[in-house]
Amino acid sequence: MNAADRFDTVIAGGGAAGLSCALFLARAKQRVAVFDRAESSLRRVERVNNYLGFEEGIGGADLLERARAQAQRFGASIFDLDIDRVMQRDGGFVVRAGERELQCAHFVLASNKRTDLAVALGLALGGHGGRFVEVDPQGRTRVERCWATGRITGLPSQAIVSAGHGAQVAINIIEQVRGEYYVDHDR
Ligand SMILES: Cc1cc2nc3c(=O)[nH]c(=O)nc-3n(C[C@H](O)[C@H](O)[C@H](O)COP(=O)(O)OP(=O)(O)OC[C@H]3O[C@@H](n4cnc5c(N)ncnc54)[C@H](O)[C@@H]3O)c2cc1C
Repeated sequence: MNAADRFDTVIAGGGAAGLSCALFLARAKQRVAVFDRAESSLRRVERVNNYLGFEEGIGGADLLERARAQAQRFGASIFDLDIDRVMQRDGGFVVRAGERELQCAHFVLASNKRTDLAVALGLALGGHGGRFVEVDPQGRTRVERCWATGRITGLPSQAIVSAGHGAQVAINIIEQVRGEYYVDHDR
């Protein structure tokens, strides 16, 4: 496997949670890849009126495209592919998406309604309707170095809540990697 296929973190899902997580990781100079097949429920919302900072509201698809571009601006790689498989290997993960195979140290579930990858990793589902992945306050699942963020963790179904949680999980990953307190503050 060549260096181009090795990432610090791979994120399954590029909705509000996954893209926010990617933005914060990329700004901390982590090599991060997001896989997303553009099926966020937000994409179909004509006008999102409760996302802070857009006083006239913003189209859901527009919000996601802007978030993608923002994460890419700081170096996140985004693949328009579905992750088909994820397996634990050598203390990290091997991720398959179509013909691509990637290695990563950390894996983040941000896939909302799709829980097949979580189940494949041996994670139990719970909460209302048995659709959510259990995480600790840092966003860690029971599988080492596998994190989960956004709606898949059972948080309220609001884009801004998912985005905030994605940022929080990214900061927790960065702090684990660096072993020190971390903030992302512009001057
Ligand atoms: C009809 C409707 C209207 C809504 N209106 C609002 C609103 O006005 N305001 C508001 O705040 N919230 C609204 N929401 C809720 C909002 O859409 C969600 O809370 C938010 O999108 C959750 O963000 P997320 O990142 O957790 O998941 P999502 O945004 O759903 O993102 C998950 C992503 O993961 C991808 N994915 C899944 N499996 C894989 C895989 N194996 N590999 C790669 N990618 C994968 C999906 O394609 C998807 O893009 C609405 C929801 C619906 C259904």
